[in-house]
Amino acid sequence: MTPVHFTQLDVPAPHWDEVREQYDRLVADLESAAGADQAVAVIERWDQLARRLETWSNLTHLRFEQDTRNPAYREARQHRDRMWPRLTELSVDFKRRLLASPFRSQLQQRFGANAFQLWTAQVTTYDPVIEQDVVRESELEAEYTGLLASAELEFDGQRYNLPGMLKFREDPRRDVRHGAERERWGWYGGQRETLDRIYGEMVDLRHAMAGKLGFGDFVELGYQRMLRIDYGREEVEQFRQAVRSQVTPLAAELNRARAAELQLPQLRWWDEGLFATGGNPAPQGDHDWLIEQARRMFAELGGGLDEFFGLLVDAGLLDLKTREGKAGGGFCTSLDLFGVPFIFANFNGTKGDVEVFTHEMGHAFQNYLSQSQPLLDYIWPTYDSCEIHSMSLEFLTWPWMELFFGQAAEQFRRIHLTQALLFLPYGVAVDHFQHLVYQRPQASAAERHAMWQSVERMYLPWRDYGDLEHPAGGGFWQSQRHIYASPFYYIDYTLALTCALQLWVRSRQDRPRAMADYLALCRAGGRLPFQQLVRSAGLISPFEPGCLTEVVDQARDYLRSG
Ligand SMILES: [Zn+2]
Repeated sequence: MTPVHFTQLDVPAPHWDEVREQYDRLVADLESAAGADQAVAVIERWDQLARRLETWSNLTHLRFEQDTRNPAYREARQHRDRMWPRLTELSVDFKRRLLASPFRSQLQQRFGANAFQLWTAQVTTYDPVIEQDVVRESELEAEYTGLLASAELEFDGQRYNLPGMLKFREDPRRDVRHGAERERWGWYGGQRETLDRIYGEMVDLRHAMAGKLGFGDFVELGYQRMLRIDYGREEVEQFRQAVRSQVTPLAAELNRARAAELQLPQLRWWDEGLFATGGNPAPQGDHDWLIEQARRMFAELGGGLDEFFGLLVDAGLLDLKTREGKAGGGFCTSLDLFGVPFIFANFNGTKGDVEVFTHEMGHAFQNYLSQSQPLLDYIWPTYDSCEIHSMSLEFLTWPWMELFFGQAAEQFRRIHLTQALLFLPYGVAVDHFQHLVYQRPQASAAERHAMWQSVERMYLPWRDYGDLEHPAGGGFWQSQRHIYASPFYYIDYTLALTCALQLWVRSRQDRPRAMADYLALCRAGGRLPFQQLVRSAGLISPFEPGCLTEVVDQARDYLRSG
């Protein structure tokens, strides 16, 4: 299917009364269904409605992120934010009825048991008593995004937004790296009170919601909101412990070797982005050139990625350039009504452009391959699984890195792998911090900064912020968007990376098999919970002992050779 161009895609904002009437009819038809077949037909109608509402919501959010200063987009997003909790209420009510259906066992046979497990988790995370809290939470998230997007920094006679400043972290000149980071962290330092106030309000709000819904704390609610079906707090804690005992020492070793190679007396924060004396390898061309190289890469990689990439380009489903007023970061969103995903990024001329691009392409491709899943809830799996698709594609595209980096491709691969290993301790630190925060929601802002410092010492003992006052005082976490906008999301990256690294090992031993496993995993969408999906691809769950050991050994061997 070739959709119309993105600029022509439009989903009118739903009218509350109409949606409520549609739901009333669905409920009446479900309750009066004479058999499982009739109930199935009702579910299919409901799924169409849910896809339309989801697409409207995603599109509204996307257009705001593309241009946060546009008053019409801002207003549309506010409208969406006000309406979404009430729509959620309707959908949660409908799911409650599905869970109580007399035909439940036949419906589970038809749609799979996972949907019922997901719905069970979803119905526990929403109740009309928290409607206003959910609206407020979304407003605070938008305030955080808007605040960061509004930053205008001056450096070396030029103006930059925050994402635009990140490229200097890789500058080979130490004084430039240092100066740019001083500027960037100076901005965060100047916003400290606002950032503390926004987060403090979020924590209070989330803790209150947990109480109203009958949870002991927001950690419990947070896990349910992340739809963790087949693992809990204890498994996650064990995994963090495994990263701390197995990966942190290797990461420290890699950083020591790097400091020696870069001839630095000690590795300060502003050096952490640099991996080679002459500067990190960078793509050898601009945005348009990157797109052309990507086209060649996917043509050779095959597996359907070639046609898919052509579709994204032709239909304008990529927004990769950075510009003023555009929100930072990169993500992939789903426009289910049109059967296509959309990729959002902020290219800045560094190797990160290639990494973000292959990452988001992994999400997008899985999304596309799963569009024919019978339920909206199966188009994406839970995030822990989603990030396997994205991070695995980063590794599966390794053999084509010559197209982007020329002779520096091997250097790129080594850095990519090193950064993956360095990421694991950081990722679990972000997770651990949030556990500390939500276990003691009454903590003061200063105590939260101290909590962050305690997890830094635990997982990232090499961190040295020198004269950067804000992060040296424990404020680093305020630049991590997920901590504000997506609580407990971050661990998912580390769980998925542990799986993606296994596929990396496999791709070096048996590439066709690794590729086949990858495609099967993409097609499976969200039909299974995390550990089952992982095992279905012949991978070891990150919660099983030894899984990290093998990956770490292989990576260490690779980095020591050559
Ligand atoms: Zn991702």
